[in-house]
Amino acid sequence: MKPSQPDLAAFIREQIEIYGDELALPARDLRLEAGAFSQESEEPWRKCASLQAFVAEIAACDRCLLSKSRNNLVFGSGNENAHIVLVGEAPGAREDQMGKPFVGDAGLLLDKILAAIQLQREQVYICNVLKCRPPGNRDPLPAEISQCLPYLEHQLHLIKPAFILCLGRHAAQTLLHTQAALSSLRGRVHDWQGIPLLVTYHPAALIRYPQFKRETWEDVQRLRQLYDQFLQNIQPS
Ligand code: SF4
Repeated sequence: MKPSQPDLAAFIREQIEIYGDELALPARDLRLEAGAFSQESEEPWRKCASLQAFVAEIAACDRCLLSKSRNNLVFGSGNENAHIVLVGEAPGAREDQMGKPFVGDAGLLLDKILAAIQLQREQVYICNVLKCRPPGNRDPLPAEISQCLPYLEHQLHLIKPAFILCLGRHAAQTLLHTQAALSSLRGRVHDWQGIPLLVTYHPAALIRYPQFKRETWEDVQRLRQLYDQFLQNIQPS
């Protein structure tokens, strides 16, 4: 059986006390490691009960090296009580400059996609897996995703949407903990901690590959149908 994190932390502390600097790893590093578990659960942002408090708490985040190259941390925008949250990949150059998600050409296309299902940006909430821009718009690295993912999870817990729409492979693979191709993930309804999750193409990919617009149309139509059913169910009879 795998040891739990507190068990492992206690074991490391015990070994430091017994062996001190005779350990193969410097005791100083192990002390840091042993403390990491308790530090993580004590991080102040985990106690934030509103998005405003949360973004203020992580504004100076330096958990990964993207903090060194960003101009702005791009937390998310939209309706904090939204029934639908859209999750993209990471900020691009314009988003990094302006501190808002989806403000470039991909953002304009996203607005059109939303309008096609009678939604406006103000009705949904939009965020990304990574809050800071990877240089040169490269793909997010696994280490960056693992450092930033707890923020997205807390964000989703605070908003409590009825639906999540993943825009692109990185968002879908991250939230669904899979390496499956986007083409095999779209077209069905997944579950993220009890919340129905759908997958479609990232608007930036649609600009490069317009042939995927038809599938995207089908995906968002499916979302709209489910959303209409949801609205009917919550309306008082
Ligand atoms: S990408 Fe996420 S984890 Fe990395 S510095 Fe930005 S906010 Fe922090």
